[in-house]
Amino acid sequence: MAETGAPLIRLRGVGREYPSGEGVLRVLEDIDLDIGQGEFVAVMGASGSGKSTLMNILGCLDRPSSGSYRMDGREVARLGAGELAALRRETFGFIFQRYHLLSEMTALGNVEVPAIYRGLPADARRARARDLLERLGLGDRTGHRPGQLSGGQQQRVSIARALVNDARVILADEPTGALDSRSGDEVLGILQRLNAEGRTVVIVTHDPRVAARAHRVVEIADGRIVADRRTGAPAADPGPGPAQAPQPARVQARAAAPVLGRLAEALRMALLSMRAHKLRSFLTMLGIIIGIASVVSVVALGEGSRRQVLQNIAGLGTNTLQIFPGRDFGDMRSGRVTTLVTADAAALARQPHVASVSPTVGTSATLRHGATEASAQISGVGEQYFDVAGVALTQGRGFDEADVAAMGQNVVIDENTRTSLFGDGPALGQVFMAGKVPLRVIGVAEAQNRGPGGSTSLTVYAPYTTVQARYLGSTSVSGLTLRVADDVDMALAEQMVADILTRRHGTRDFFIVNNDQIRQTITSTTQTLALLIAAIAVISLVVGGIGVMNIMLVSVTERIGEIGLRMAVGARRGDIRAQFLIEAVLVCVIGGIAGILAALGFGLAFERMSSDFTLVYSPLSMLAALASACAIGLAFGYLPAVNAAKLDPVKALQKG
Ligand code: ADP
Ligand code: MG
Repeated sequence: MAETGAPLIRLRGVGREYPSGEGVLRVLEDIDLDIGQGEFVAVMGASGSGKSTLMNILGCLDRPSSGSYRMDGREVARLGAGELAALRRETFGFIFQRYHLLSEMTALGNVEVPAIYRGLPADARRARARDLLERLGLGDRTGHRPGQLSGGQQQRVSIARALVNDARVILADEPTGALDSRSGDEVLGILQRLNAEGRTVVIVTHDPRVAARAHRVVEIADGRIVADRRTGAPAADPGPGPAQAPQPARVQARAAAPVLGRLAEALRMALLSMRAHKLRSFLTMLGIIIGIASVVSVVALGEGSRRQVLQNIAGLGTNTLQIFPGRDFGDMRSGRVTTLVTADAAALARQPHVASVSPTVGTSATLRHGATEASAQISGVGEQYFDVAGVALTQGRGFDEADVAAMGQNVVIDENTRTSLFGDGPALGQVFMAGKVPLRVIGVAEAQNRGPGGSTSLTVYAPYTTVQARYLGSTSVSGLTLRVADDVDMALAEQMVADILTRRHGTRDFFIVNNDQIRQTITSTTQTLALLIAAIAVISLVVGGIGVMNIMLVSVTERIGEIGLRMAVGARRGDIRAQFLIEAVLVCVIGGIAGILAALGFGLAFERMSSDFTLVYSPLSMLAALASACAIGLAFGYLPAVNAAKLDPVKALQKG
């Protein structure tokens, strides 16, 4: 062990000063102090004389402004933050006047904290903490929280905490100051016993009776040592006896994989602290929940509508052109343009690159069957319309070339019309009136589902010649649906069609819609929309993240005492940073999961309300949402975590 002559603790000319106004406040001046292994030293002095400052320097919570402090032969001033944390963790055990227990943890949990930072495996740690609590008479209180314990019991928990890493030096700053005399005596008895085991004990006290139990009394006044007298012999130096010998725990700590274990502990502590502040955690998450929920639902909504639009035009095939009168959709004069006529269809049909042409004309009429009446759209179409436009028949057949040529009265009705007119009865072969014209049902087509409410309109498909002759009395058409021969290039076909019609009409008074183009337009519109959504998503998540950062920053200030205590028992700066970072990530990830669940719930509710539209959730977007929640936690938790880790342990403890 320490060579004879070189004491465990050796202070030479130590001073500590604080800037104050223009000058400096000298709290400690020129302190020379040697404390040997196994001593029991009482430090006495008036309030404000510098006792706590001295203790904090001894315990490596604070650094002297001047002078030299050698601990076990090592100059403390030369140690880095990590080495100082290791000293606090493994060599010193601090006992405070106000206990400084973590209120959300049980007695057992509190005792375990220093051992966690030391990297002791969980079961060894727990066994040791329980054993210590039992030895201090708290075997039946291990599961109690500090709030459920008396002052004396809390102080005994804090003693157990100081011992859990088998500290060689116990530093107790007025440990009995807040206790009644009986509990105080108990605590002193414990300290005496620890000293008798060979531990070095330094205790600050006002109480002469307390000091009488020590072997040496050091008196401080105005930052200087004014008396130092021995009143008894130090505990027999046990040499490399059981108290200092490496215990099994110490050996195991080296062997374990400590970093992962400490991370797991940081996760557990983050969960504990979230549980202790449920409302605050929920409010922190709220921004993330809303952000993620809206992003996931809007993506699902976009994908749902894209699929529906594509499905609606899917039937039309990619090799069809639609020709309408007028300049473009929405042209006000298109109704009066009557130059697009059946003869155009015939002329186009003769072209080699055209597979088929189906004119369309439309009108509306009142349908009557028995006592039932309904108004419906009459679509005048060619015999190939059902193929070209991809309208599937559920019963019967479509009309043929002969029907079209003869302006026949065989028609196909859609499912909506069938239910309206015939209910559950047979429809095929039935005759009904459409306006003044009797029509016979030879086929039933599926209802066309174009847009909201479209599914409830009634449609009757009749030969276009019939509609022109019997309803409209004109040969103009409202549109041509043209299928291009298989091996012909669409752009080329469109050009040829335009040339032919322009020649026939003398002017370009029509426009051509290429289904392939529509599909491309929809796809590119969707992509633009997706970008827009992504931008909104980023904004809302950043806002959520700023909320998290805000509350985490407040939480760091609020928990300054906890942070100080953790540092005092040996947490590295990295441990504190990890704890707050993990807490931020955890809040965001839990918020992200809640957001995804909320979005799924929204989708279910939406599907209940509207039957013909579904939200399409992509697992990818959910994964992306979770990943970004995680990233937000890291990004916005970083500043608060660094702030927490930067705290000065002494100041943090004083504020806590
Ligand atoms: P004691 O524990 O003996 O009552 P302290 O060591 O706590 O005394 O404080 C000694 C003196 O140092 C007091 O006057 C106190 O105001 C001053 N002091 C302690 N900490 C600080 C600080 N962080 N900044 C400025 N002055 C301080
Ligand atoms: Mg004090």
